Amino acid sequence: MGRGEGTVGGSLLAGLDGVVRVLLPVSCPGCGCPDVVVCPSCRHRVLSGPALHRILVDGTPAVASASWRGPAAGLVGGLKERGRTDVLDVLAAALARAVALLLWPAEGGPRHDAGPPVPPVLPGAGGPVLLVPPPATWRAVVRRRDRPGERLAGHAADRLRRAGADVVAVPALALRRRVVDQAGLGRVAREQNLTGAHRLRPGLGGVVAGRDVVVVDDVVTSGATAVEAGATLRAAGARVVGTASVAHA
Ligand SMILES: [Zn+2]
Repeated sequence: MGRGEGTVGGSLLAGLDGVVRVLLPVSCPGCGCPDVVVCPSCRHRVLSGPALHRILVDGTPAVASASWRGPAAGLVGGLKERGRTDVLDVLAAALARAVALLLWPAEGGPRHDAGPPVPPVLPGAGGPVLLVPPPATWRAVVRRRDRPGERLAGHAADRLRRAGADVVAVPALALRRRVVDQAGLGRVAREQNLTGAHRLRPGLGGVVAGRDVVVVDDVVTSGATAVEAGATLRAAGARVVGTASVAHA
């Protein structure tokens, strides 16, 4: 018998849980499985499957915790399109895993599900490693009234800090000009859409200068967004270690 069962409080809580489920039916956005925020299978595939590695066109490494062809797409869509903030923890764990594999590849493998490893040495010259998400598009901010990319970066940094890593999330980038949604564009069009589109937020040039920086995103498709973010950060004096994401498409 679990704690609380067989008591008035336990019965009350069980009853309330039933009420909440009726009012707010929940299902796994990865597979549609009912009555669970993220099912064990989707959680396992996003957090514990083989990580994906590639090199972006600017020569920097990019690591993802999962493939976009699995449940990651549904989980990210749940957060960004349907406001499923209850999946944020799983996505942040996946992003933290990718960051750990990028920064500390030797230690990063086997312990991801229990939390990222404790890094003994940072790759750069001291000070926290900065996790920088690409800027949210204006359309997305207006439509969603939220910046899920920044929340995801912040939660991933929290996880890494709890594991002992000196990591902070800094939403250092903003859009310099309007860009169209990358979805549906080919690779060349994506690069043209984004080249020169990012800038540092006012006052944050001094924060990123001289720092080790990881560009973090939910999904890396062509890599154009990550490359543009990296170029802007490098121009501000940051050392861009690479890109980490929940998924690679
Ligand atoms: Zn599922």
